[in-house]
Amino acid sequence: MTETQVVVAGAGPTGLMLAGELGLAGVDVLVVERLPEPRTRESRAGGLHIRTLEALDQRGILDRFLERGRRRRNVHFSGLWLDVSDVPTRHPYLLVIPQSEVERLPAERAAEVGVRLRRGAEVAGFTQDGGGVTVELADGSRVRADHLVGCDGGRSTVRRLAGIDFPGTPATMTALLGDVELAEPPSGDIFQERREHGTFSVLSFGQDWFRVLTNEFDHVADRDERVTLEVLRDALVKIAGTDYGMHSPRWISRYGDAARQAGSYREGRVLLAGDAAHIHFPAGGQGLNTGVQDAVNLGWKLAAVVRGQAPDRLLDTYQAERHPVAARVLQNTRAQTALWRVDAHTSALREVLGDLVGIDRVRLRLAGMTTATDIRYPMEGTGELLGRRVPDLALDRGRVYDLLHSARAVLLDLAGHPSLDAVAAGWADRVDLVRARPAEGSDPGADAVLIRPDGYVAWITRTGGRPDPDALRTGLTRWFGPAGPLVGGSGRPHQAAPDRNRSASQLR
Ligand SMILES: Cc1cc2nc3c(=O)[nH]c(=O)nc-3n(C[C@H](O)[C@H](O)[C@H](O)COP(=O)(O)OP(=O)(O)OC[C@H]3O[C@@H](n4cnc5c(N)ncnc54)[C@H](O)[C@@H]3O)c2cc1C
Repeated sequence: MTETQVVVAGAGPTGLMLAGELGLAGVDVLVVERLPEPRTRESRAGGLHIRTLEALDQRGILDRFLERGRRRRNVHFSGLWLDVSDVPTRHPYLLVIPQSEVERLPAERAAEVGVRLRRGAEVAGFTQDGGGVTVELADGSRVRADHLVGCDGGRSTVRRLAGIDFPGTPATMTALLGDVELAEPPSGDIFQERREHGTFSVLSFGQDWFRVLTNEFDHVADRDERVTLEVLRDALVKIAGTDYGMHSPRWISRYGDAARQAGSYREGRVLLAGDAAHIHFPAGGQGLNTGVQDAVNLGWKLAAVVRGQAPDRLLDTYQAERHPVAARVLQNTRAQTALWRVDAHTSALREVLGDLVGIDRVRLRLAGMTTATDIRYPMEGTGELLGRRVPDLALDRGRVYDLLHSARAVLLDLAGHPSLDAVAAGWADRVDLVRARPAEGSDPGADAVLIRPDGYVAWITRTGGRPDPDALRTGLTRWFGPAGPLVGGSGRPHQAAPDRNRSASQLR
């Protein structure tokens, strides 16, 4: 029987990102993926939002994605455009990039940090006991691990086998998608219209091919009904009055607005992330982004537990933090599909909302929600930054996100507080104490911050304040376990973590 520390089921964007995070922390990971080959023709998602771009930047791998994508300054809420170019971030844009790339690049990264990927391997069952999980694959082979994470998509086998419920709201409409060539395309990169029988969009992908999308309301297609070019053509002609000379389909798919969320993200040693934990209409392009951010939240916590660096209850904070985030995504996508309806009352409501998004505060509120930059995890203490993503402040050398490349926690002292040394010494094997100065002109809004590996602020001393060592000790213990040398873990030898090329001492 193969042995490993973590089995990740599913090599979609969530599973691959999680595997990379675990591998970076020195955890032995096996990804098992049902499909024998990567999905290259089918590319559902098309955009990475600001918080996902920041998460990739925190790991030093964003450039690979930027090279492959195009930047747009607008995101949307139910088709109402929201300019994000003034959101405070280094990356105030949507990166348009096919999902196939958002699977290829993390797969490349995961391999670099020692992750093993077994394709054509389908999880068919598992049993768990006090010591671990035995995962059964469809070919009859078995893998023993400390934990299993189901990143196996909306129809998750892991979720079903774990007996986790998936409550929510059923579909009320039918959407079709076709990547096709058009003999007579409409003008512009993005063409969207609302008509009597539904809405449609035509997005240009360049090089003569297009994505055609249709939405029909109050009609839910039978799941077993085949989706063909003719079905798409009929829907488009019904709504738009033309098929724009559609031919040569590469991929045609149907989906709906069912919105469901796992009642629990954890059952013992089994966890869920990404679409396995939440599904919804792809309004505003939030699904993949939410899954990747689940992975970044779970990765360091699971790594710490597996390596014996933190108590098992740290894993409960994954659900406590991420379940409300996805619940809100489900709610906002329900609101977006409701607003897409084409009746006179909804059209009137759109007009009102279209007017309101012209107000900066309204626009920025919706933009913060869609791009996940407004997330605030519950934390004890006070301070505007507490629980929020740390700003990527320019330092006298480098910037804050450079400090997070190796996914270790950072205690960043921006004001030279010697009292921090004695406290930090107890966690020196898990937390880097970094002394730096803000670059000229940058306002940190704090004298010292404890930054978790996922880039969220877990403790803070405000500008001009005195660090509270007891509060810092409490924060360090809560997130990184008790002070002192590590004990425990899975009992299996770890892989050495990859070279941490930026040690704290270099910045002191
Ligand atoms: C039309 C459309 C447009 C979208 N646009 C966007 C967008 O712009 N932005 C955005 O953020 N999101 C978008 N989404 C949503 C996005 O595609 C999903 O949220 C995303 O793919 C979820 O990633 P995942 O890794 O969690 O799951 P998946 O991508 O579904 O990956 C799951 C993987 O698990 C594998 N698997 C399944 N069962 C097993 C098993 N038993 N054993 C082993 N492997 C298994 C599957 O083969 C698959 O590779 C869109 C979705 C649709 C339908």
